[in-house]
Order: sequence, then C-alpha cells, then structure tokens
Amino acid sequence: MTLLFAPLALLPNGWAENVRIDVGADGAIAAVAPGAPCPADALRLAGPVVPGVADLHSHAFQRAMAGLAERTGAVGGMDSFWNWRETMYGFLARLTPEDVGAIAEMLFVELLEGGYTGIAEFHYLHHAPDGRPYPARGEMAARILGAAADAGLGITLLPVLYAHGGFGGEPPTPGQARFLNDVDGLFEIATAARAACAPGQRVGLALHSLRAVTPKELSTAVAALDAVDASAPIHIHVAEQTAEVDACLAWSGRRPVAWLLDNAPVDRRWCLIHATHLDADEVAGIAASGAVAGLCPTTEANLGDGLFPAEAFLAAGGAFGVGSDSHVTLSPFDELRVLEYGQRLTTRRRGVLGAPGSGCGADLYRRAAAGGAQALGVAGGAIAAGMRCDLVVLDDDDSKLIGRSGDALLDAAVFATPNRAVRDVFVGGNRVVTEGRHPRADAARAAYRAALKRLSEA
Ligand SMILES: [Zn+2]
Repeated sequence: MTLLFAPLALLPNGWAENVRIDVGADGAIAAVAPGAPCPADALRLAGPVVPGVADLHSHAFQRAMAGLAERTGAVGGMDSFWNWRETMYGFLARLTPEDVGAIAEMLFVELLEGGYTGIAEFHYLHHAPDGRPYPARGEMAARILGAAADAGLGITLLPVLYAHGGFGGEPPTPGQARFLNDVDGLFEIATAARAACAPGQRVGLALHSLRAVTPKELSTAVAALDAVDASAPIHIHVAEQTAEVDACLAWSGRRPVAWLLDNAPVDRRWCLIHATHLDADEVAGIAASGAVAGLCPTTEANLGDGLFPAEAFLAAGGAFGVGSDSHVTLSPFDELRVLEYGQRLTTRRRGVLGAPGSGCGADLYRRAAAGGAQALGVAGGAIAAGMRCDLVVLDDDDSKLIGRSGDALLDAAVFATPNRAVRDVFVGGNRVVTEGRHPRADAARAAYRAALKRLSEA
C-alpha cells in the first residue's frame, strides 16, 4: 500500500483539504480520507491535486509531422483536411516500426509532462510500406504498447479496421495500403496486442470511419470484439468533414451519425470521434446513447474541420472528452481552452460550456477527466476509491496559479496559459513526472532526433 497526502485535492463532491489517498498494489485508489492527519510514511504532494485526464484520441506517428503541413498551397486560402491528408500519407510512407516506437515514446513522455495520464491510441498504421503485413502482424501495435509502458502512460490500444477507400466499399487508394485489413486480419493484430499488453494496458477496437468499413464489416468486427471482451471500448471517426456527410447521404440517405445510431449498438462503450457535423436529432441521439463525444479542438481547428455544437450537446447531458489527435498541442488545458473559445467566438458570450455557478475551466476539466476514462474503458477520471490512481499535481508556483485556490486554479490552468501548469504526474499510483520533468525525456528526445534524421534522409 502506498500512502499519498494532498494539502488540497479535487474530489467528486468538490475541493477538500488534507486528503489522505491510499493506493493499492494494483494501482487503484483504495480509500480517500479528507480532513485527515498526514501519516508519517505518506508521500506529501507538493501542490493542489486533480484527477488526470486521458487523451482519448491519438495517432502517435502524427506527432512527427506536426507543423509540417502548414505550407500554403498554390491557390492561397484553399487548403483543407483533404490535402493535409495527402501530406500525412506521404509522411507515413517512410516510417519503420523503429521510427514509430521512437516517435511514440517522445510523444508519450511529452503528454505526461503536459498533464495527460492515459491515451487511446487509434492505431491504423499496421503494415510495411508496400502494404504487406509484417512477419509478426502485431509488430507496430507492440511498438506502441512498449513505448507507453516505457513512458509509464496508461494506454488503451484501438487497432483500427480500415478496409475501403470510401462509402459502399470503394477501393482504397495506394496511400492507404499500410492501413488495410479484413476483419480476420485485424483481429490477428488485436490478439497479438492483447498478448503484448503490460499490466493495466487494454485493447479495444476502432472502426476508421463509415467511409472505410461496410455495414457487414462493422457488425462482424463488433461481434468479434464482444466474443473476447464485451466491455472493451469502440471508437470511430464519424462526421469530421462536410464532404463526408454529403457522401454518406448519397450512399445511404442518412447522415453519418444518424446512420450509426440506427445501425450500430451505440452505448457507453462507444466514443464518437469528430462528431463535428450534427443536426439537432443527432446531438440528442449521441447524448441519449451515453457514448462519449471525442473532441479534438486544436486539431479540428488546425484542419479547418468545423465546430462541434458543444453547447447544445452539453445541455442535452452529453459526455465528452478531449484528444490531442494530430498532436499540434500536447495539453488537456489547451484543448479545453480552444473548445470554449470556439463557442465564445461564435456566440459572442462567455462561460458558454461551464455549469452555472462553477469555474468554467474547472467544470470542463472535471467532465473531460470522466469522459476520457470512460472512452479508454478504465475506472478513472476522479479521485475516489476504486478509480485508478492517476493524479496531476498542479504547479502553484507558476505565476499564473499563484494565489489561486479551488476552481480558480483550474480556470487559470485552462484560460490563463501558465508556462507550467503541471508539477508532478502519477499514473497507477507511480510518480512518472517530477517537477515537470519525465526521467526519460532526454533519452526519448535523442531517439526521436535520430528517427527524424533517418526519415529526412530516407
Ligand atoms: Zn483521428
């Protein structure tokens, strides 16, 4: 049993002083006692403590191309998600499993330093550059799981079923060759990934999008997952682009989210990534399903996707979490700031998404912590008995946090852009970041630098 002691901590029913946190050998919180004396053998935490947020959407390899797709095209102002995607395909064509492992470890170290405590990796880069599976079909998956274990970041790996290039089973393009599997091939990868999991790691399923799987493949894959783990999470990219909505309407007569809600068993296990383009019925439908809306505000802004109708969705009681996705930023605070700012800029109001009477940043943070844990399929996202002991110790020496307490701490962390909001990070009760630094940061940076050098010469 590990004993932690927090001078101030955010518990499910509010902020509490002098909180003793007992952590079991399994990394879960065994007991929480506010207003307790500090036991002599406890580790005294050096600042206000909040639950960790899981990053619910990541493509780890994209960390290495962040900022590379910003050259304006020949016709100014006409770049889009679709030509960004061509740049991304060109970049990933050269990546080896060693490169992916090095990029993932750099990313995971940085995400921990940024205050994330877990990640859902939406993993679709499965095969060799010519599209042939590696001799060990789960090679890439194992590299990512290994990088997460080395960094100490919680992970739910989501092997992605990607079978087609467009709605109705259209053939894939050559740029998609590394992603392609039928359901059996994908479950070979998933089985290998399960075998490669370290304690606390989990494997679920992702469907790339309704563009990339047929209805039959969707139902077969979900049934195959149920046969091995009927509670494992299922993620899907669902309505990121208006062109995607139009193509889905042309194919099925239904919008993508409406189609999914009608044709798949969407419930709390599901996480709908980029549910950006919704009508009112779809907003209500996702909220009622209990699924998590997987929002990636900085990536969605970077890609010019559009704005998720967050105010209506939260008013309907919808659950959400945030993901760093293409990793143009690596902090949950950044995602929440952009989420709320999108609403402020379009509605010309403030405090649009916060619950009445609470700190806007603090309320968004609490909900993102709960939604992130749900999306990863782990008990977490709150400091309470039975939850995984994933904690962030805020850096109240940062000038933006000095003098703040309670919700104002998280409001400042989200909206005042501290230089360093995060002092220490604990995952499963183990301290993985101390005074803002991960012990593997230098080694990970050296390996990452070498991988990028190799890529530039390849
Ligand atoms: Zn994505």
